[in-house]
Amino acid sequence: MADKRDYYEVLGVSRDATPDDLKKAYRKLAVKYHPDKNPGDKAAEEKFKEVSEAYDVLNDADKRAAYDRYGHAAFSGGMGGPAGGGGGFHNPFDIFNEVFGGGGGGIFDTFFGGGGGRARRSDGPQRGADLRYGLEITLEEAAHGAQREIDYERQVSCKSCRGSGSTSGSGKKSCRTCGGVGQVIMSRGIFQVQQACPDCHGAGETVTDPCRDCRGTGMAKESARVRINIPPGIEDGSRLRSSGNGNAGTKNGPAGDLYVVIQVKQHEIFEREGDDLHCQMPLSFTAAALGGEITVPTMGAKATVKVPAGTQNGTTFRLRGKGMKTLGSEHHGDLYVHVQIAVPTKLSAEQRSKLEDYAKSLGETTSPMEESFLEKAKKFFR
Ligand SMILES: [Zn+2]
Ligand SMILES: [Zn+2]
Repeated sequence: MADKRDYYEVLGVSRDATPDDLKKAYRKLAVKYHPDKNPGDKAAEEKFKEVSEAYDVLNDADKRAAYDRYGHAAFSGGMGGPAGGGGGFHNPFDIFNEVFGGGGGGIFDTFFGGGGGRARRSDGPQRGADLRYGLEITLEEAAHGAQREIDYERQVSCKSCRGSGSTSGSGKKSCRTCGGVGQVIMSRGIFQVQQACPDCHGAGETVTDPCRDCRGTGMAKESARVRINIPPGIEDGSRLRSSGNGNAGTKNGPAGDLYVVIQVKQHEIFEREGDDLHCQMPLSFTAAALGGEITVPTMGAKATVKVPAGTQNGTTFRLRGKGMKTLGSEHHGDLYVHVQIAVPTKLSAEQRSKLEDYAKSLGETTSPMEESFLEKAKKFFR
């Protein structure tokens, strides 16, 4: 057996890493090396197992203490370590699902491309296809989490023929074109290519008395409704997996999954940047000049900001913890309020004359900013 790497080194964290540090490091690496993302890449799969194992141990206070004391020997069985004899680690995929898990049923899955590409065998049970559903949610729903019911159509086994495709249920025979294999060899010039049989479409069987309801396919459309749990902090483009809610499988194969792809609608006020929110806040120039307390909208309760006298255009106020919730954590991002000084476009005669008086009281220049600007500009005119 090859020498095992130090668990802290595997996760790239220091020995005094907090549980939060560990989780962050694990998330990053687990996503990078997940087999779904690196199909057929053995090295990536090994890495995935390695980081999962390291996280499994370090995330458990008892196991971590044992590891800090005895190193890998703590789990090798001979020492009678807390993990017991050898097989004490959790399945890397269970750990992954746990760390990324959304509540109730749906497994959170932000990253991976749809199933596809898996070799299909014509003779055995076939897994049903995965389905994809685009779900538009508001930024508020993304911030607080939500439950949504979605209606969609999926393929299920035909009830009339119980999925056999044959009216009598026994009108099936081995396909003659492919001899029941489901695949045929075609010649393309000097190459020979294997492809799905054109007559039985890979099933290896043909139906002599096709069912009228499903025209021999054995499948029917069904309206389905599922409830989707949207975890707070979810990002635009995330995919939620609703296990087993895709199309039905054939020959007792398992159903595919339903993937709900989240699209977060643009918000009227807030713009999201990771876990932070930004908003432009118009402020009258008198309020900016005189200062005061103003109310700003947030994702939760309203908040107030103390605007100091003489606040300039473009000033940013940061409201800690008033941004979006970080997915799978209690942390919240911040809200940045960017001041936009609003200059009045319509003035009454009285207002106008007062403003003119004000301008006169300032003398030649009209603002300190302008004064300092002119001061700087002089250098260039010499
Ligand atoms: Zn065939
Ligand atoms: Zn049928």
